[in-house]
Amino acid sequence: MSAFDAGAARGTDATARTPRAKGTALFEVTRVARALGAEFVARLTPPTRNVVEGTVLAGSWYPETVLRELLEGLADDVERRRLGRLQARKDLESVYRSLFRAGDLLGTLSTFPMLWSLYHDSGAALFERCAAAHVRLSVRGFALPSAALCAFTAGWLQSAAELATDAPARVDETTCRTRGADRCVFEVRGHGA
Ligand SMILES: [Zn+2]
Repeated sequence: MSAFDAGAARGTDATARTPRAKGTALFEVTRVARALGAEFVARLTPPTRNVVEGTVLAGSWYPETVLRELLEGLADDVERRRLGRLQARKDLESVYRSLFRAGDLLGTLSTFPMLWSLYHDSGAALFERCAAAHVRLSVRGFALPSAALCAFTAGWLQSAAELATDAPARVDETTCRTRGADRCVFEVRGHGA
């Protein structure tokens, strides 16, 4: 069994319990939720409202449903991608700085499988190099598939690629669990791809 399959199997096991997201994945989305005001916060389910009204700790784990509910409550995928981009920039310049490779698109994105497991306790990500500036990242076995999280993840990857190359990048999610596939696949194309 490859490490990827082992991770995916671990994700399958995770469906038996509450899947969780790390506090780092919640910083930007909870900040925006607070900024949207009391009316937005009042409509949230109690567990999510508690997180928004409390202090999010970078190293703590929270129910994955909190992240999904907040992302789904945002206006649209443009906003979800924007938040993913902000989160990547914040994390790759601070808490996960050691995983960032300046000037190196492939090196930076090759750390995404490790980053996935820092942000989420289910599922596993696989890195594949397709060309000099084209990378394919796949996520399997995630316990709570959500198109909203995929948009956030696409934004995260775009920002990571752009920070690494200091040039525009493009991310397309070509296959998605929420569209019946067995995995989500993100094609990342950096400058010149
Ligand atoms: Zn997806």
